[in-house]
Amino acid sequence: MNLLWKFCIEFVILLPLTNTLSIIPTLNRNTIYSNSLCNQNFTIFDNPLIPRILGNTDTLQICHDIENAISYESQVFYLYDPRYYNDIHHYSISSTNFSVCSVEPGTTNDLAIIMKIIGKNRVPFGIKSGGHSLNPGFSSTKDVHISMLRFSQVNYNPTDQTVDVGPGLVWNDVYKQLQPFNVSVLGGRVSNVGVGGFLLGGGYGWKSNQYGLSIDTILEYELVTPNGTIINVNNKTYPDLFFGLKGGLNNFGIVTNFKMRALPQTLVYGGVLLYDFLEINNILNAAVNFQHNNQDPKAQILCDFTSLGGSVAINIIAFYDAPIAPPNTFDIFTSIGHLGKLQTRSFLSLVQASPVVITENMR
Ligand SMILES: Cc1cc2nc3c(=O)[nH]c(=O)nc-3n(C[C@H](O)[C@H](O)[C@H](O)COP(=O)(O)OP(=O)(O)OC[C@H]3O[C@@H](n4cnc5c(N)ncnc54)[C@H](O)[C@@H]3O)c2cc1C
Repeated sequence: MNLLWKFCIEFVILLPLTNTLSIIPTLNRNTIYSNSLCNQNFTIFDNPLIPRILGNTDTLQICHDIENAISYESQVFYLYDPRYYNDIHHYSISSTNFSVCSVEPGTTNDLAIIMKIIGKNRVPFGIKSGGHSLNPGFSSTKDVHISMLRFSQVNYNPTDQTVDVGPGLVWNDVYKQLQPFNVSVLGGRVSNVGVGGFLLGGGYGWKSNQYGLSIDTILEYELVTPNGTIINVNNKTYPDLFFGLKGGLNNFGIVTNFKMRALPQTLVYGGVLLYDFLEINNILNAAVNFQHNNQDPKAQILCDFTSLGGSVAINIIAFYDAPIAPPNTFDIFTSIGHLGKLQTRSFLSLVQASPVVITENMR
């Protein structure tokens, strides 16, 4: 390789890698040039050999603008901060993008300020709650990533039997906080699914045969619109928007609070039954049989194929919304050779029993 080019390449590779921290506050596309020996018009960003660890410099400036505009209750993180990785992490690795910065708004007012800056600059952004979207770009971005982590409220209102839930939580956290009150809400069936995407995208839960989809149990949304206005959306204030949000995901703004109907919660009956893959025909027949013949809205199953220890296993999660299920409810599953058992337990413990967390990061 020509010596001059070798020098140029080493120089431009080492410059950003060694000086990352000091460059970040002042980085500007017009001022960062590689060595003048190489080419006066040749910026480090133009070299295809160099990974763009700093991302788009225009976006970087917007991240700084956000940082300067928000209160102490919110924060902006860059890729040298461990909290950045927590913010951009997804259940499925392929859904994660490396954004220029991650923003954790801590108040609705700060989120409104952030949306105004994003709107003014028309910069791409992503909104993440629990990160269980399997599609790249749905809750990830290469530009400004917004993590809703700090909206972590769970407030039970016994007078009107409602619960205010924040989109920064996963369902285990919500059930755990409601357990002492013997109430629940219609949320996710397995560990670590996020409140935000689940409640804005439909939401089929363990109690759906009794109460409908999760969206049917939402009474009001607190919403920051794309132009940074904060509104409370219910059937009276904005009926069209209220309807649109029920399945509208992130198309109408960012939800900062869901007011949900509180539902009574006793101990439940159920658990995980694990089967060898050789039982596939028996399990599929049993699942179809249960689906066609079960008339009890408190009984439900979830049939899942899981990679465990290098082989494929089948699991059935059985749920009954009372401490004891009527005799024979799940016999077609327990009569096939399996590991695991069905038992009386808390609702939270049933949700946590799902083996789905084992497959996190494997896709
Ligand atoms: C292992 C697993 C189990 C699942 N089990 C079920 C199940 O039992 N029942 C069921 O119905 N679904 C289930 N799902 C699907 C799941 O509900 C959806 O993928 C849901 O979108 C995940 O929500 P999230 O907040 O974790 O995802 P995210 O990836 O964080 O968000 C999903 C979408 O919602 C948007 N969004 C998130 N928060 C907000 C907000 N506050 N304001 C505006 N937009 C927002 C994001 O931008 C993105 O477009 C499951 C998915 C997985 C991976």
